[in-house]
Amino acid sequence: MQGLSGDRVAAWLERAADVLEREKMYLTELDAAIGDSDHGINMARGFTAVRARLGGLDRGDVGALLKEVGMILLSTVGGASGPLYGTLFREAGLRAAGAGELDLAALASCLEAGLDGVKRRGKASPGDKTMVDALGPAVDALKAALHEPPAAAGQAPPPSGADGRVSLAEALARAAEAARAGAEATVPLVARKGRASYLGERSAGHQDPGATSCWLLLRSLAATADA
Ligand code: ADP
Ligand code: MG
Repeated sequence: MQGLSGDRVAAWLERAADVLEREKMYLTELDAAIGDSDHGINMARGFTAVRARLGGLDRGDVGALLKEVGMILLSTVGGASGPLYGTLFREAGLRAAGAGELDLAALASCLEAGLDGVKRRGKASPGDKTMVDALGPAVDALKAALHEPPAAAGQAPPPSGADGRVSLAEALARAAEAARAGAEATVPLVARKGRASYLGERSAGHQDPGATSCWLLLRSLAATADA
């Protein structure tokens, strides 16, 4: 895969809608433990709405496409996570404005803009047991892949692109893995933001639903890039 085009983004969102529909009960069970049992339903509803509208969206400008997806999520997901996922896609879209496709540098930059937007809107820091704990490590992994020195000629390991640098597909696989680890690392944390924070110490011992959905989204993106 070269860059992430509008068609690739659309394929990602379709896959994400399938995955979130399939994992709806899992996410909802996670939310039942430390919230109000609606996260899976919220996310599946939002991405089903995105999928239904995909055919009518312009794919020529990845930034505009992501922004439009943010608006759909904002109006359909609901709960605390709706405005936050809406912000993530909107801010990422604003950063990518006018781009026909995203290379690794552009993708890292636009996901970082999305992460910053989520942090501004939700006021969560790393370690607060939120989606930031999956998204943050994923953004870090993309930036690390971008800055990894190129492998020497003739020694390029398989994941590298033709120029010896980490390929976009490999970088996305690493980002998804970082998000998975980040989501799992929320288990022992005490929630400091969102509904789970009302439980105080009792929120420890459970994986954060929003960090988990964020991992599923990034895993879907990595799978699309790989396809
Ligand atoms: P609600 O809590 O309103 O029912 P959801 O169940 O859809 O909304 O989403 C809960 C998830 O939203 C949490 O697991 C957490 O990851 C995320 N979240 C909640 N509040 C914040 C916040 N202030 N900043 C970042 N993420 C948050
Ligand atoms: Mg909830």
